[in-house]
Amino acid sequence: MALVNEHFLKLPGSYLFSDIAKKINTFKITHPKQDIIRLGIGDVTRPLPPVCIEAMHKAVDEMADESTFRGYGPEQGYDFLIEAILKNDFAPRGVHLSPSEIFINDGAKSDTGNIGELLRWDNSMGITDPVYPVYVDSNIMCGRSGVLGEDGKWSNVTYLPCTEENHFIPELPTHRVDLLYLCYPNNPTGTTLTKTELKKWVDYALDNDTLIIFDAAYEAYIREDDVPHSIYEIKGAKKCAIEIRSFSKTAGFTGLRCGYTVVPKELTAATLTGDRVALNKLWLRRQCTKFNGTSYVTQRAAEAIYTPEGKEQVKANIDYYMQNASTMKEGLEAAGLKVYGGVNAPYLWLKTPDGISSWRFFEQMLYEANVVGTPGVGFGPSGEGFIRLTAFGRHDDCVEAMKRIRKWMA
Ligand code: PLP
Repeated sequence: MALVNEHFLKLPGSYLFSDIAKKINTFKITHPKQDIIRLGIGDVTRPLPPVCIEAMHKAVDEMADESTFRGYGPEQGYDFLIEAILKNDFAPRGVHLSPSEIFINDGAKSDTGNIGELLRWDNSMGITDPVYPVYVDSNIMCGRSGVLGEDGKWSNVTYLPCTEENHFIPELPTHRVDLLYLCYPNNPTGTTLTKTELKKWVDYALDNDTLIIFDAAYEAYIREDDVPHSIYEIKGAKKCAIEIRSFSKTAGFTGLRCGYTVVPKELTAATLTGDRVALNKLWLRRQCTKFNGTSYVTQRAAEAIYTPEGKEQVKANIDYYMQNASTMKEGLEAAGLKVYGGVNAPYLWLKTPDGISSWRFFEQMLYEANVVGTPGVGFGPSGEGFIRLTAFGRHDDCVEAMKRIRKWMA
């Protein structure tokens, strides 16, 4: 008899976005003529940059010819992409990594969810709250999160609240945690940490022998100078952090699938007997066993975003979304609402008026303004009383959504 991994049974019955989809469907059945503007789900709407399309066409032609055909590639990724990453994403920021410290993946989600395999199930963990749900859910699956309490919190997880009161800057844990997830620029609050603030976390990790998983999926949206693009801009971070990046929101790869994970050679974790083991070696072993690489065609598309034309095209798309973000921020403020984020990130974190719950405001906004957001509480207990709006929509839709919200709030 095959016994099930009972930790899976502890997972919340349905995923946040399927609950939202059900509510939208109910609305559509009862209001078939109303047109809804969706500013909820974090998927992009702009097509891939033309350089990526050209690179893929060329790569497809190579695949059609016996002399240039490629079969299995290196599990870690092709050198041409790794070199482009090192040269463009890190060297200009004074971060020097070796090619074997980069692992090309099929988007950030897989590695974000899988990286915990390197660590024993009984490590303690900390997360900022609210946050991208994959960190907690993937740890629930291996039993690391403990049991769910009535307060909506998992017993083995240390929650680091990010609230209006602390300007969405979490305080260091009052006790040590083994594993810590940080996501900056943050999904869902759209806020960031300055270099000085991030340094506090790196110092905490070094002092406490904590491993940081740094999710920088929204790095391309950073506009302000004092916001670090990589955790390795902070001294000592190579000894305590893994960084995960994605081309999804940078270059519209949500459907194409590519990103990368940085596991520095200096990074180690302890065995029960106190020896130290290099995580880079373990992750390479894991990838060679469970992953056969991202497709050649996709990696050529990713390489193309680092060409001069690619950089311009990527910038144009990001500028488009950030224009949406400022239109939305202005519109919401003009409607008398309080809103955070949207300056270094494509997310706006809207405070519900009069202390209304996230789900109640979500429904009111859907039924009265026909605009869809994401209830903040879906990202963690400290998200209660907030709604996440994304700037990934079409510009006309963002303008129209703001008109509707202003009218509704008047
Ligand atoms: N990390 C964060 C914080 C995200 O918001 C997302 C997607 O929305 C991901 C990772 C996963 O991105 P992908 O798997 O498309 O690279």
